[in-house]
Amino acid sequence: MKERFFRFMRGRYGVDALGRFLIYCGLILALINMLFHNIVIAIISVVIWCFAYFRMFSRDIYRRSNENNRYLSAKASVTGGIRNFWHRIRQKLSNGTINNAQNGSGSYSSRCNSFSGNCYEVQYKVFKCPKCKQKLRVPRGKGKIRIICRRCTHEFIRRT
Ligand SMILES: [Zn+2]
Repeated sequence: MKERFFRFMRGRYGVDALGRFLIYCGLILALINMLFHNIVIAIISVVIWCFAYFRMFSRDIYRRSNENNRYLSAKASVTGGIRNFWHRIRQKLSNGTINNAQNGSGSYSSRCNSFSGNCYEVQYKVFKCPKCKQKLRVPRGKGKIRIICRRCTHEFIRRT
């Protein structure tokens, strides 16, 4: 029996990442449909499973592996996009809390490098322009520097 199965599978494509994904999708849809009893969902899950089995037993290995590669690159771009999205949200949240905590001048701030994905501490001091109250962020530890307001171009000197 086992031998017959192996003989049957010889030269056929078998299961790959896309195949597993399709089987899971069909299974999840079938489980969801236990609640909804929707004929459209049922048909979609059967079609997905049929496609998964068709790929498994297919002899056109070249075309099947092309499909798998397209699936893998699509998956990579989706997961990369989601990771970037969360990274941006986290960055925004942490900036927001730091900005809320700072009242007036002399608070710290940190920044993430979005190119390398690494977060490192860059320390800033935040000053308010004495004229227009615009918040200005200046790198820390530069000694006494002249700050030019980017809104009203008013100049003032502060120690950072
Ligand atoms: Zn100003």
